[in-house]
Amino acid sequence: MTERRFWKKVEIEVGNPTSCWEWIGLVRNGYGIFIEHEKEYDAIRYAYNKNKKCYLKPDEIIYHTCFNELCCRPNHMRIGTEVEREAYVLEKVSVPRDHLDLDHANEIRRLYYIGNTTYEKLGKIYGLHYKTISDIIREKSWI
Ligand SMILES: [Zn+2]
Repeated sequence: MTERRFWKKVEIEVGNPTSCWEWIGLVRNGYGIFIEHEKEYDAIRYAYNKNKKCYLKPDEIIYHTCFNELCCRPNHMRIGTEVEREAYVLEKVSVPRDHLDLDHANEIRRLYYIGNTTYEKLGKIYGLHYKTISDIIREKSWI
């Protein structure tokens, strides 16, 4: 029953094999929170654990292949360490500067909101000046 309560708080687009399933319940500091018997759970972990029937070790994290922190679609998630996540991000988001578009701008914003990064770090990844990254994040460009 609880699991059904959980999935009611996720916006699932039926029939779309690639769309994100966004958490529409309680959000705190950018992360979905699911409350069960007065205990709070990280919505992403809950979704992953229920679906894959496995439990994460303390040093393991879940990261998104879609870079959408509110996405609860299990096949948009990967399990690994912080180092693995960073390697994945670097591999996926490195793009030539003149190929930057709105999707990349949104990606930069998401990465920034996930945390664990700075304007400088993102600038290195994308080959941009940190001020440009700052403009993107503060929506001064690519609005
Ligand atoms: Zn997703």
